Amino acid sequence: MNLLIGANFKMNKTNTELLEYFQTFTTEYPNTPGVDVMIAPATIGLSKAAEFIENSPIHLGAQNMFSELSGAYTGETSPLMLQDIKCEYVILGHSERRTIFGETDEMVNKKVKTALAHNIRPILCIGENLAQKEEGQTKDILRVQLEKGLAGIEDTTNIDIAYEPVWAIGTGKSATPEYAEEIHMFIREILGQQESRIIYGGSVTEATAHELISKREVNGFLIGSAALDPRRLIKIVEEATR
Ligand code: PEP
Repeated sequence: MNLLIGANFKMNKTNTELLEYFQTFTTEYPNTPGVDVMIAPATIGLSKAAEFIENSPIHLGAQNMFSELSGAYTGETSPLMLQDIKCEYVILGHSERRTIFGETDEMVNKKVKTALAHNIRPILCIGENLAQKEEGQTKDILRVQLEKGLAGIEDTTNIDIAYEPVWAIGTGKSATPEYAEEIHMFIREILGQQESRIIYGGSVTEATAHELISKREVNGFLIGSAALDPRRLIKIVEEATR
């Protein structure tokens, strides 16, 4: 299975900045074998990004999507719209969607199902916050997020799971490779025989990528801040594959 290295741009980069980014990335990225690179710009940049990356090895991802196909849902994006521009991935249940925008496991589950039904590969994000970690609730929280997020789904082959501890996102405090491995093994146990990739997210940089990926159950990364610079993203892929 290829590693998945995903970039979540969050609410960053105008279309002009995206063009610059992709010009640098597509010129300098050597298309490393064994790695799927996915880039998720903000919704408004998706169509432009789809044009910029045509004929490049980059896979396009959305940062969110609604669970209905069309209708009176102001401000939302339909899977049909993503399909139409050949957007292959969608990040679902990111902790910022859960905490700032009130997404529940049930809402995330509907989105995961809709994405699958439209051949868009969901990256289902799960993760505990600092208080939950400190109270020793990490595994209980993850089990619930995973079981509810995947409720009614028999085959998770086409789903990637992103373990993103909330305390590590945007804080510069990455999980240690040992901690990530322990949690990924726990997630793997819950998934059973399923083939899903389990990727890690939370302050990954070019300095931490190699050690993290050396753990057997770490199958890639979801990266925020460090991926905003195309050369740093290329360096992370290099570090993850050396
Ligand atoms: C993220 O938002 O998914 C993320 C992992 O961000 P950062 O790499 O900045 O911690």
